[in-house]
Amino acid sequence: SAKRDGKNRFCQFEPAMMDAMQRRRYLEIDLRRACARDEFEVFYQPIIDSQSGEITGAEALLRWNSSERGDVSPAEFIPIAEELGLVSRIGANVLQQACRDATTWPDHFDVAVNVSPVQLLDPRLPQIVAQALRESGLRADRLELEITETALLGDDEAALRTLTSLHELGVRISLDDFGTGYSSLSYLHRFPISRIKIDRSFICKLPEDPGSASIVRAIAQLGESLDMKVTAEGIETSEQLSFIAQQGCDHVQGFLISRPIPVADFLALVRARIGAVAA
Ligand code: C2E
Ligand code: MG
Ligand code: MG
Ligand code: MG
Repeated sequence: SAKRDGKNRFCQFEPAMMDAMQRRRYLEIDLRRACARDEFEVFYQPIIDSQSGEITGAEALLRWNSSERGDVSPAEFIPIAEELGLVSRIGANVLQQACRDATTWPDHFDVAVNVSPVQLLDPRLPQIVAQALRESGLRADRLELEITETALLGDDEAALRTLTSLHELGVRISLDDFGTGYSSLSYLHRFPISRIKIDRSFICKLPEDPGSASIVRAIAQLGESLDMKVTAEGIETSEQLSFIAQQGCDHVQGFLISRPIPVADFLALVRARIGAVAA
């Protein structure tokens, strides 16, 4: 019978499946507690101009240092926070923190904040962003929001409304992880997007791999002809940096320049660089 089949099937999943479910359940409990205790910290990865090498800003990257688990990757906990309905709250805190922090930087520096697809579909997002700007006093054009192609897939109209409101606030929108989603290039002109970020998976095999080189070249040209800025992320070697600079990518970020670091370290790095230029 179906009932017995169901039972048998359930038995087959054990114990590996129960293990995974258990782990997941504990992660949920810890994540809820982390929200209550505010165990999060915003790190910053410097972004530089590919031609001059000067720092032009940073990307805010969330860190969860769990007392029980140590460092948990946002790639692991953000999807769970989305499912649990916690991501808007966590995301609002990142926005507030990033805007506040950026007001302590040189005032031509930008700050980029990641926005998950679930956050983008939250109709309160424009208000949350406006409030973060108002409370911090950060100029809207210094804030960049990074969205992914998947965020534009589902409810197209809702995404368009939200992005239009954000655009009207004066905030800029970037397409993160470009080339890895279901790219229907039509959204590049349908939505108010001002930057493309080339995904690290295309950068890591540069400059040797001809396929990656062609893709990077094509994206750089696409950005140029659509009048969008292009950032290459995940630059780890100086060979990659010079290849990227030759292709006309505007900005780069990656471990070669710096890993994501706490805000105090970012400021120290900025001061040291300015000092080095002045000397
Ligand atoms: P992302 O926005 O594409 O961020 C870039 C990721 O690549 C970061 O991982 C960064 O540490 C890493 N990375 C940068 N340069 C290099 C490099 O040269 N080599 C290598 N191997 N990795 C590099 P991280 O910080 O673990 O974040 C992973 C993802 O989690 C982010 O990808 C973003 O999608 C998400 N995320 C992080 N912070 C937030 C946040 O505050 N809100 C939301 N919604 N998502 C976030
Ligand atoms: Mg990003
Ligand atoms: Mg990315
Ligand atoms: Mg990524």
